[in-house]
Amino acid sequence: MTTPYLVLDGLCKRFDRLAVLDQVSLAVGEGEVLALLGPSGSGKTTLLRLLAGFETADAGAIRLGDRDVTALPAVQRGFGMVFQHYALFPHLTVFGNVAFGLESRGEKDPATLRQRVAEALHLADLEGFESRRIGELSGGQQQRVALARALAPRPRLLLLDEPLSNLDPTLRERTRRELRKTIERVGITTVLVTHEQEEAFDLGDRVAVLWRGQLQQVGPPEELYLEPANRFVATFVGRSSLVPGTVRLTDHAGRVWVRLAHADGPVWGAAEVEGLHEGDAVELAVRPEALRLLPAAERPAEGLAGTVAARRYGGAWTSYLVAVELGGGVVEVEVLAAHDAARVGDAVALEPRPEGPRPRAFRVVPG
Ligand code: ADP
Ligand code: MG
Repeated sequence: MTTPYLVLDGLCKRFDRLAVLDQVSLAVGEGEVLALLGPSGSGKTTLLRLLAGFETADAGAIRLGDRDVTALPAVQRGFGMVFQHYALFPHLTVFGNVAFGLESRGEKDPATLRQRVAEALHLADLEGFESRRIGELSGGQQQRVALARALAPRPRLLLLDEPLSNLDPTLRERTRRELRKTIERVGITTVLVTHEQEEAFDLGDRVAVLWRGQLQQVGPPEELYLEPANRFVATFVGRSSLVPGTVRLTDHAGRVWVRLAHADGPVWGAAEVEGLHEGDAVELAVRPEALRLLPAAERPAEGLAGTVAARRYGGAWTSYLVAVELGGGVVEVEVLAAHDAARVGDAVALEPRPEGPRPRAFRVVPG
């Protein structure tokens, strides 16, 4: 991240007795695209509405550049926002919709209006659509009109709430590419809300994971995937199996050695996530590509014994995802070649792949 441009400092928001946002602190660099990723109900839209000035925080501050905008009304913040359902005016043309964003900020000069609308339509690849009615446009085109309307006043910050979620899957990917192109072209600092990991990874320079109103982790996609900070991130961002075990040893290289709870459990190395001690109950979060599947007869000393419980074909890259029952838990493993994917009921062994992502050990929180 470059120098912080947008800073959220300890934002809290309650609706009645429900704490929807709890101490959210975050810095976004100038020109950076931050993807805010979380499941439905985690508080994403509320956070975006606080940024836009449509809701007031109960505590905390919002700064843009060197200015505290916490108490500034929405119109004076000069931020562009695209709502989840676009909120376009169906009776107006594309021109009318895009001009509305400018007029609502007091821009009246017809020549300036025309020029700014043309500029925004160019950015959103909508040249030639000026006089079309909203109802005549595809979902992807409507999304771009909403984007053009937000960009026309040359905002200092762009806020996008699930901009692609009401497009059908075939349109979504194309519109996502166009959205990325437009954001890059404008070079504008952007906060983009999504519940889809793929979208967050594709569009975000960094990704902030929100769950139950609390930020879980903020970092580039690779970091979230390879070094998830807790079991929520490990399972929400990509797939992980959680394998119970007990800490046997911790070393000075930030590693823990965990005796897995299953069968005659071997001891596996994992990345230490918090201060763990010998005897702590942990869960190992294991990525499917971190393990290798072997016939039971070839089980090495550090291998796990199990039985194939299920397998499914996952397409060209992940040929098979094989679920192995260990006797009390199931771990999923990715198998690339069909002939290596054992059949349901087969006795198999699992061993860590040295080149795979290292399992992460998380302390089991009682209750
Ligand atoms: P997300 O966008 O991540 O799905 P929201 O920010 O929309 O989550 O909602 C977070 C929580 O806050 C939900 O439990 C939702 O019901 C609640 N909530 C949102 N807006 C209001 C409101 N105006 N009044 C009461 N509860 C609200
Ligand atoms: Mg939402």
